[in-house]
Amino acid sequence: MKPATVQARAHSANFPTYRWLPKHAPEDRAIARALIEPEPWPFDGGARRANVIDPNEQPPRVVRRVGWSRCLCCGRPHFSPDVVGVRLCSACGGLGGVPRGRLDDEDA
Ligand SMILES: [Zn+2]
Repeated sequence: MKPATVQARAHSANFPTYRWLPKHAPEDRAIARALIEPEPWPFDGGARRANVIDPNEQPPRVVRRVGWSRCLCCGRPHFSPDVVGVRLCSACGGLGGVPRGRLDDEDA
């Protein structure tokens, strides 16, 4: 059957078993909603922690926390996407952000 035939039957009263489905907004069609992740903020010494929230859970669930933390290897502060799970900066091979400041033995 041609698509035009299906469309005509869906809009016709003579074919009660055919029906035209309503249009959905793109956000309704998405399988899952994206995590609500706060933007990185300027260095604050590690005072602030912000929650990353999963809106797909009911009630919405905190999946991890972001913020500034000190690298366990070099000790420099970096913006970590997970302050519990990501403890190394990117310069030391970890998954954290670019460290702030210089290493003490770097000026050789
Ligand atoms: Zn480091």
